[in-house]
Amino acid sequence: MSAVPKPLPQITPEMAPFWEAARRQELVVQRCRGCGTYRFPAREICSRCLSRDAAWERVSGRGAVFSFAIMHQVYHPGFADAVPYAIVVVELEEGARMVSNLVDCPVEQIEIGMPVEAVFEPVTPEVTLPKFRPRRAAG
Ligand SMILES: [Zn+2]
Repeated sequence: MSAVPKPLPQITPEMAPFWEAARRQELVVQRCRGCGTYRFPAREICSRCLSRDAAWERVSGRGAVFSFAIMHQVYHPGFADAVPYAIVVVELEEGARMVSNLVDCPVEQIEIGMPVEAVFEPVTPEVTLPKFRPRRAAG
């Protein structure tokens, strides 16, 4: 355990449904009711069709690594035990892109296009962090 806890995400009113779902081990993404586009993080207006009508929908949690960065520097003392770790941008099957951590994978094995799936890491009673891990071909 780190002596200093990792900082937790700010739960904003517009993202509250996302964090509520994560506590249930579900991944949800905001979807425009005008054009059907999935978007993350939540926005008030669709950048494609300008509709304000949107709903949260459960997604598969499956996606692929779109890009990634490997963090070697300790920018916050809470991460001192975690380096090196990977920050990934995952493109979900539904189309939205989400920034998260990749777990259960040595950082040198991360590749663009690698299939991944969501996993959930409970941190506090309020916060469960959705993360991603490599997806086995058979799974
Ligand atoms: Zn739209």
